[in-house]
Amino acid sequence: MVAFDHLLVQLDGDTKGMRELAPLLISEAMSGNHYRGREWLMKELPHDSWRWPEFERQWGERQQSAYAAALVNIQVMADSQVLDALRMQDLRKLAAGRAKGRGKQDLIEALKTNLPGEDLLALISQGRQLLMDALPDPYKFDYAEQCEVFIHRLSALAYSKRNLEELRESPVLDQMKAVFRAGGTMNTPKTCILRNGQTYALNDPELGTLAPCGRLDCSCLISTVIEGWRRNV
Ligand SMILES: [Zn+2]
Repeated sequence: MVAFDHLLVQLDGDTKGMRELAPLLISEAMSGNHYRGREWLMKELPHDSWRWPEFERQWGERQQSAYAAALVNIQVMADSQVLDALRMQDLRKLAAGRAKGRGKQDLIEALKTNLPGEDLLALISQGRQLLMDALPDPYKFDYAEQCEVFIHRLSALAYSKRNLEELRESPVLDQMKAVFRAGGTMNTPKTCILRNGQTYALNDPELGTLAPCGRLDCSCLISTVIEGWRRNV
């Protein structure tokens, strides 16, 4: 539950619903099967009842930069490639009976042959606009992916806690230490970087309050070290 609370504080919305779901999600996460956990989350909590703002921000940024790149691609696409890039149904709609062809290339050839230059350019310009309109909405939020990441994080945190508890009962406790490790990616939070490499005795009370930060863009974890071997927890 500690691990779950750790994630819960990062969410907005229906905390009561999340608390009721917690035992189900945790047992599912511990069993290694994330798929049913995701189904529960999607079924039990309505689409807009909770949010993970940090995830939403990251998703939005990623989507918007992909959208901007796709937009530029269409804008700089050579005229000769625009008609090729259209779907057949859009091409037919644009042609509006002014040219016929059984296959895509036949139709494009017929348009090029039959239409005066200006009409063809206007058609290409409309086609370019159609391609841009068909780009996925960059602001549309992927709820399913958020659920999946949540379950994944939950699983990692619950797994860490369980292993740590098992290790505490180990007969070689005195020789074992816990180490906080955080990778130095661009988005690793400062708090994790500062903790990187810090070691704790397994009976250190501070270790009880320590957990991976749970951020989507940080892969920090607590591992244990003992002479000769290492185990992730
Ligand atoms: Zn972290």
